[in-house]
Amino acid sequence: MQKIGIHIMEYQKINEENKVYFIDSDVLPPEVLARKHRIEQDPSFRTDHMAYMQGMEIIESDIKDKVLDQMSGYDYEAYTRADVERALSKESCSVEDFKALLSPAAAPYLEQMARKAERLTKNHFGNTVYIFTPIYIANYCQNYCIYCGFNCYNNIRRKKLDFDEIEHEMKVIADTGMEEILILTGESRKYSDVKYIGEAVKIARKYFRNIGIEIYPVNVDEYRYLHECGVDYVTVFQETYDTDKYETLHLLGHKRVWPYRFDAQERALMGGMRGVAFSALLGLADFRRDALATGLHAYYMNRKYPHAEISLSCPRLRPIVNNDRINPRDVGERELCQVLCAYRIFLPFAGITVSSRESAAFRNGIAKICATKVSAGVSTGIGDHEEKYEGSQEAEAGDEQFEISDSRSFAAMYSDMEQGGLQPVLNDYIYV
Ligand code: SF4
Repeated sequence: MQKIGIHIMEYQKINEENKVYFIDSDVLPPEVLARKHRIEQDPSFRTDHMAYMQGMEIIESDIKDKVLDQMSGYDYEAYTRADVERALSKESCSVEDFKALLSPAAAPYLEQMARKAERLTKNHFGNTVYIFTPIYIANYCQNYCIYCGFNCYNNIRRKKLDFDEIEHEMKVIADTGMEEILILTGESRKYSDVKYIGEAVKIARKYFRNIGIEIYPVNVDEYRYLHECGVDYVTVFQETYDTDKYETLHLLGHKRVWPYRFDAQERALMGGMRGVAFSALLGLADFRRDALATGLHAYYMNRKYPHAEISLSCPRLRPIVNNDRINPRDVGERELCQVLCAYRIFLPFAGITVSSRESAAFRNGIAKICATKVSAGVSTGIGDHEEKYEGSQEAEAGDEQFEISDSRSFAAMYSDMEQGGLQPVLNDYIYV
């Protein structure tokens, strides 16, 4: 039987700034381990993260430059209380106002920000809150993102569901009453190619009325194919918009190419998708700059593609399998709340999703202020919905991507949202 274990003391590099730890598995062959160390320690051994790899489509777009320009010139310490008060007093929020609302000067104004965000949310979304669930169909990954449990060097149980298993899992989820699903994979074209994902989407169409995907970025024709299979929207986390930091966190694989990832949402819309979602993983780099870049990425896309449904997520780092010391650094719940309220004030029409990475108490509260979508019945493992929903343990499941904080079932979430005075919505889109 294969040994599963971790020599934490054998080689552990602590990156104090990131609080992210490299860990070696004792099942890695020596030559693989040597390569891993070289990649971690020697930047010259890594590929150019700004250069496209073969097969990656390049589109003409000026949005990247606009976002990076704004981000690099953002000195959030320069904003004052007067800037924040001015931003809060205005009916529409400019880019400058957004910057002020994300600055430390806005921290004492959280209450006022929350009240304004709540009013705008009510104006545009009423008291509704959407409920959906994610399903991970494979956890193979060819990338080395040092903060993620699915990374190619992490010693976890890998699994890819076959189509019968996918159908079974989806049926279990649909039987709870859920109507929207988000299909996720690790980022591996080899194990989860576009055709495989497309077939999974076709199965999902039988059970769900709204389908999102969160997979590796693909080219326009591949997004078009996936849309034809039934995908409504595409979520891509940029993780961090700080290209230098990105380089130090994504050491290997296609994901290493920052600009190809950045343009994913635009390629998805060019491929016919109805909606796109944006996000930075807060805690990886300077969260204020990342929040600014995320909001601006969505803003510029909204101006260029006004028909598109735009939404934002706001995840923070979570511990992973074999590394429970990963944390979101200086992004506490107050900071997270500030970012979410700033998003709402800057982009009143945008959907805002708050995932099960956050606590039940936080999600109950933020859904009344500015979030419009919450996940429920969540498992970040592979093929374990039945086990989690019904307590059966038939098949061996793959390991989870990260630890969740809010494990409420669909029924519990629905009931909690209703008790909080909100109207749970399971689907708002009808195909004719
Ligand atoms: S974050 Fe995504 S691409 Fe990176 S290791 Fe995890 S699953 Fe793979």
